[in-house]
Amino acid sequence: MYDIIIIGKGPAGISAALYTVRANLKTLVLGSGIGGLENAEKIDNYYGFPEGISGKELQQRGVEQVQTLGCDVLDEEVLSVIKDNFFTVRTNKGEYEGKQILLTTGKSRVKTKIKGIDEFLGKGVSMCAVCDGFFYRGKRLVVLGNANYAISETDELTRFSQDITICTNGREPEWENAAPQSVKIDTRTIAEVTGNAKVERLVFGDGDTLELDGIFIAEGTASAFDFAVKMGILTEGTNIVVDENFKTNVDGVFAAGDCIGGFLQVSKAVADGALAARMMIKNARK
Ligand SMILES: Cc1cc2nc3c(=O)[nH]c(=O)nc-3n(C[C@H](O)[C@H](O)[C@H](O)COP(=O)(O)OP(=O)(O)OC[C@H]3O[C@@H](n4cnc5c(N)ncnc54)[C@H](O)[C@@H]3O)c2cc1C
Repeated sequence: MYDIIIIGKGPAGISAALYTVRANLKTLVLGSGIGGLENAEKIDNYYGFPEGISGKELQQRGVEQVQTLGCDVLDEEVLSVIKDNFFTVRTNKGEYEGKQILLTTGKSRVKTKIKGIDEFLGKGVSMCAVCDGFFYRGKRLVVLGNANYAISETDELTRFSQDITICTNGREPEWENAAPQSVKIDTRTIAEVTGNAKVERLVFGDGDTLELDGIFIAEGTASAFDFAVKMGILTEGTNIVVDENFKTNVDGVFAAGDCIGGFLQVSKAVADGALAARMMIKNARK
């Protein structure tokens, strides 16, 4: 059992871990990949680097720094967080229990650029199987995605429908755990999504169509926003709502960094992480 589980190993998550570990709280940092810093070729505006530093190197140095303190940092993709007496965090490789959770998963930059899809959001196109699956009992469903998150959303939907197709939109499947047997996989490119009052079909690049009742977007990895919605955490646009102490409306869950919005910069993410950690340390000592 961890005292603190931090989801995200970017500046906000690592900064928080630097404080929680030093406060003698057993801390686990889970992150899949680098995050926002991956594509930041050179950071010129962060304190202490007169020649600038690449985003990747800055992130790696942070991880090394917490590891030196004895913090567990695992490269795993978090698929869901379940609240019971404690929190159970499920990843692509295992499950971990924690007393408090800090969400620092940055801003999801995965967009679905399929023609027509935006106009059907909320009209048959959903971004959350846990939230909306119930409304699609026995319906013909499509899950859009080609990685672990698509499988996780599909697993959720199999409780409601046996007619599910995962469409990868021209990409090879990259998931680690196989899709449920009843699920069809279609790797063709998608030209557009059409319908009238509600979404009705996918049109593939080769002209074929697939009639459907609902589409669930599950591209890339689950973002803090996805976790938040599923856990009943208040959100505003794509930001998680926190109070002045970085607390969400769910007891024991905090959020910091880009995922709460505001100034999307390393300096602010680092500060958020430190301040959120301070409150979590206080909480742990109650
Ligand atoms: C191209 C580019 C250039 C930039 N240049 C600058 C700059 O010059 N200066 C500056 O100050 N800022 C810059 N930024 C912004 C900066 O990168 C972000 O503000 C900062 O990284 C935010 O930190 P964060 O910890 O909140 O999120 P991130 O750094 O995005 O970290 C998010 C973490 O969450 C993890 N994660 C996400 N989902 C999951 C999941 N499901 N399971 C497990 N882990 C998950 C990711 O792997 C990552 O470790 C730039 C951003 C981009 C994209």
